[in-house]
Amino acid sequence: MSVPIGRACFRLLPQFAGSRNGYRLMRGLSVHAGAPQVQPSEKGHTQKRSSALPAAASGYHYSGGDYGLLEASPGGCACCSPASDFRSNGRRLISASQASTSGRSMTTHALASAPAEPVEGPEALKAYVNRRIELFEQFKLRESEAVQRARAENVPIRIQLPDGSAKEGVRGVTTPQDILQQLPRSVAKKAVVAKVDGRVWDMFVPLEGDCNLQILTFEDPEGKETFWHSSAHVLGEALESCFGAKLTIGPALEEGFYYDCYLGERTLSEADKAALEKRIQEIVKEKQEFDRVVVSREEALSMFEENKFKAEIINGLPQDATISLYRCGPMVDLCHGPHLPNTGLLKASAVNAVNRAHWRADVNNEPLQRVYGITFPDQAAMKDYQHRMEEAKRRDHRNIGTQQELFFFDRMSPGSCFFQPNGARIYNTLVELIREKYWEYGYEEVVTPNLFNFELWERSGHAEHYKDNMFLVDIEDQEFGLKPMNCPGHCLMFGHRMRSYRELPIRLADFGVLHRNEFSGALQGLTRVRRFQQDDAHVFCRPDQVMEEVSSCLRMLDEVYQVFGLTYKAALSTRPDSYLGTLEQWDTAESALKAALDQTGKEWELNEADGAFYGPKIDITVFDALRRKFQCATIQLDFQLPIRFDLQYKSAGDAFERPVIVHRAVLGSVERMFAILTENFAGKWPLWLSPRQVMVIPISEGSVGYAQKVRGTLRAAKLHVEVDASDKKMQKKVREAQLAQFNYILVVGEKEEAEGTVNVRTRDNVVHGMHSLASVKDVLLREKASRSLTSIFGGHEDTSSAEASDQHVQNGVALTTAR
Ligand SMILES: [Zn+2]
Ligand SMILES: [Zn+2]
Repeated sequence: MSVPIGRACFRLLPQFAGSRNGYRLMRGLSVHAGAPQVQPSEKGHTQKRSSALPAAASGYHYSGGDYGLLEASPGGCACCSPASDFRSNGRRLISASQASTSGRSMTTHALASAPAEPVEGPEALKAYVNRRIELFEQFKLRESEAVQRARAENVPIRIQLPDGSAKEGVRGVTTPQDILQQLPRSVAKKAVVAKVDGRVWDMFVPLEGDCNLQILTFEDPEGKETFWHSSAHVLGEALESCFGAKLTIGPALEEGFYYDCYLGERTLSEADKAALEKRIQEIVKEKQEFDRVVVSREEALSMFEENKFKAEIINGLPQDATISLYRCGPMVDLCHGPHLPNTGLLKASAVNAVNRAHWRADVNNEPLQRVYGITFPDQAAMKDYQHRMEEAKRRDHRNIGTQQELFFFDRMSPGSCFFQPNGARIYNTLVELIREKYWEYGYEEVVTPNLFNFELWERSGHAEHYKDNMFLVDIEDQEFGLKPMNCPGHCLMFGHRMRSYRELPIRLADFGVLHRNEFSGALQGLTRVRRFQQDDAHVFCRPDQVMEEVSSCLRMLDEVYQVFGLTYKAALSTRPDSYLGTLEQWDTAESALKAALDQTGKEWELNEADGAFYGPKIDITVFDALRRKFQCATIQLDFQLPIRFDLQYKSAGDAFERPVIVHRAVLGSVERMFAILTENFAGKWPLWLSPRQVMVIPISEGSVGYAQKVRGTLRAAKLHVEVDASDKKMQKKVREAQLAQFNYILVVGEKEEAEGTVNVRTRDNVVHGMHSLASVKDVLLREKASRSLTSIFGGHEDTSSAEASDQHVQNGVALTTAR
């Protein structure tokens, strides 16, 4: 059977599988899902761009290790694969407004010149729907006849189940559903979709021969995708029947789904969501069965005569594509499937948000309404989801960044962040942490140019696929560009003079500022920016040093993630079908990486044949407090760049040998890690990372002088301390300091001044009572130096309330016991 490509629903890839769920369509359409306040990006050129990205040969370099949105292009690289949406901006550094205009005009879609028909009225819609059903049933007849013939032929097939047992069936007749009926009811009840010889398969489509059959539930990733993908059809059906919408595309997302539809001038409001939800619930109650037919291109076109969007999708399918149509109830959609057996499985559903969008994500095309939904097989899962969504919203780094005055963006430089003093403290502390690790692990920090002659990227191989992602500028009639990655510069540094094997490994680290020309519509908080810094380093080593170098990278990143309290999983991607270098080189490198991973004692995954063409890599997926996934760290081997830059070292035997380059990053982009940590900590920064460590509050005006003195003492010890000398009530000042997330609040009055003490409480209102200033300073410095994630004051978490303060004053000894 050929692979069906006809699809109403393009598969999505996660970019930032987090609170705002930005997603990128595999075909390059850029969208943001999940948050109502986020507008979908408007991109005109993405189709063109993605078509220029053959999987294997795309982005030259390594994946991850950068601001993470880039895991999508197989064999591509985070630090340079053009995975996000970019535009060719010619030879000049141009402004954002110019850029967006030029971007749009590049791929004005053919559709723009032929506006869509008005939205269906009730009568027209009814006629359209009836005709569709009629046609579908005609095509279905053909399939039924095929089943009849197969039944007559009665060719037995053997269906192997995962538990080792096997079932008998008839070729072209028996469906996974038939097999399911022979299995326990508990299994059957949860069945979402089948997997036949490793491929997802509709439960209701006959099997074509001997096969291995697996039944997937909602808990399986492919089960989830099928579940949400099918839900999109239900949402589409509701959109048609409630509003006469003309449907375009409706993909499943990492979590949930959406459907884009054309409603003419009409926009959907919050109020319309209720009507949709009601209709969806009716469709669920009706338990509409999904059905599938395979049709010719002409037949598919006849089905969607009234829908120019679907017609355009059909016309864009490859000549040899298998085109399939699916029906549920009155809804017939162009789709590659598979789907649920019936709509009754969608026990819990909600319409999340409505956004505006454009056909093909091009503002010159028809305006569309994008409706987001979510469904689950039970209410408990829905409750859990809603809780997580609220929590994610509460933690949104953009909101916390504003509340805590950490950073902002200005239209004068879109996508380039202004870190305010408090944000810069966090930023610099992150960099310091990595610097400290560099010192321990023998890295050398270097400073390299931002602006390079474009010739550099011709040489590195980035030019071909990466030019559109760069800010370019003419200098004395020569083309220069702002660097989007550090590697080529580091190659120049290595090649600057003759190297000996004795010098290796050379580990060059660079916090240099990088620029990538992200389309303005795709910019998003700190997770998608134009200007960023990476904790980027390149290790130039001998092949026999790879294992030890990778091993030490893994140790370093483990230490850093432990400091953050983030858990992670490692995955090794091995030699792809098309690769550069020798088989022996790959085998040696891969076994070195495997050995290094084994040495960590942690579990790791193997992504067979998923490496970049220039070398195997280890990707690290990080999980935050909400168990959301992020790709940050990467360790990527590179056999290619040393050849391109003709890098050599003199071996022990006086021969010239090529080094291997290890690209590695632990934080990835500092900006993106900033966002992840903000949301992970929900703005409650641990002391070492906190921009507001101590607030000193004088009880009365008479104690302001002593408060200033306390501040002076702690500030001299390099703590971020402020004094609230306002005339507000003491309790109010304490509350405000707690809300501002000062880790410690020190209240001082005459008594404290006389005794050289302070009254200590935390932002969580744990009251530690009176302690000598010297001992408080000591504890805080220890907490900071140890990078503790929690307060170590008192040596235990005290849940007493402020009212119990007096008692705690007497327990001041806790401080000394903690030491
Ligand atoms: Zn579908
Ligand atoms: Zn690199």
